[in-house]
Amino acid sequence: MLQRDSAADGAFVFAVRSTHIYCRPSCPARRPLRRNTLFFRTNEEAESFGYRPCRRCRPQEQDESTSLVRRATAILAQSTEESVGIGALAAQLQTSPAKLRRAFHRSTGLSPREFSQALRLVRLKKLLREGANITEALYECGYGSSSRLYEKTNSQLGMTPASYRKGGTGMRIGYTLLNTSLGKVLVAATERGVSAVYLGEGERSLVESLREEYPRAELFRAAGQEPWLQEIVRRVEGAPPSLDLPLDIQATVFQRRVWQELQRIPRGTTRTYTQVARALGKPRSVRAVARACATNPVSIVVPCHRVIRTDGSLAGYRWGLARKQKLLEREAASA
Ligand SMILES: [Zn+2]
Repeated sequence: MLQRDSAADGAFVFAVRSTHIYCRPSCPARRPLRRNTLFFRTNEEAESFGYRPCRRCRPQEQDESTSLVRRATAILAQSTEESVGIGALAAQLQTSPAKLRRAFHRSTGLSPREFSQALRLVRLKKLLREGANITEALYECGYGSSSRLYEKTNSQLGMTPASYRKGGTGMRIGYTLLNTSLGKVLVAATERGVSAVYLGEGERSLVESLREEYPRAELFRAAGQEPWLQEIVRRVEGAPPSLDLPLDIQATVFQRRVWQELQRIPRGTTRTYTQVARALGKPRSVRAVARACATNPVSIVVPCHRVIRTDGSLAGYRWGLARKQKLLEREAASA
């Protein structure tokens, strides 16, 4: 409730003695004093004690939202249209576009449009992994023509469909292991950009992680002459960026937005998960933001280490808390 975590919506509601209203846990309103707060399992329970539903967070719409999104998802998953307009979708569900938009925002943190894009990408990736013919897969997922798909997925998948096929079949990824003061760094890249930056001690486990991410790609040890290698090492040592690094990564729409937001955090500063969620205009998606940070494949380049908990503690880091701490200290010292 204190984090306004929408994942808790539906689990309970809280009521405020002084205002006689009750709210879902993610309500954006200011938090009441603890001594004025009561908790109930259900709306009915709160109402039986004389509390009225809040007009901002509309707890009574909870069940309706969930069922709307579930039904909308079923329609979108079946659809082979290039795009389903929110008006048409709302009409099919016998609701209003505004209500539908709110329902989506609440349960997924995305707009219906973003959600349907993400859904289509998931289906597309699945079909391609299963070995479907690319043209068939495209039509199946509602992309009008191959050229449009290539246009769209280039920015969303970070890979062309051909290279995404079957977990990276046909993709050539060169990796290099470098020594830094924070241990080994594995940098992997296609000819289009950097695909992975992992930190650790054991070369083998770093290479295995890469293989898990791209099980069917052709991985090879690169010559290690690329200019971005030294750039990444410099950044590990706390130096400011001196080169733009192109990325070639797989991401959902939401992950991409979070990672872009992380790249806006100035060196030497930190943000909390809550601040990042707010900056994205999705204050209730704190948990989803934390997940996106945890799954960032290109550490350092997407500086997920600059995100910390609201209480100032460092929270987790895929590559170890000690490394996160050092990175922050170095950046703060040289910023
Ligand atoms: Zn409320």
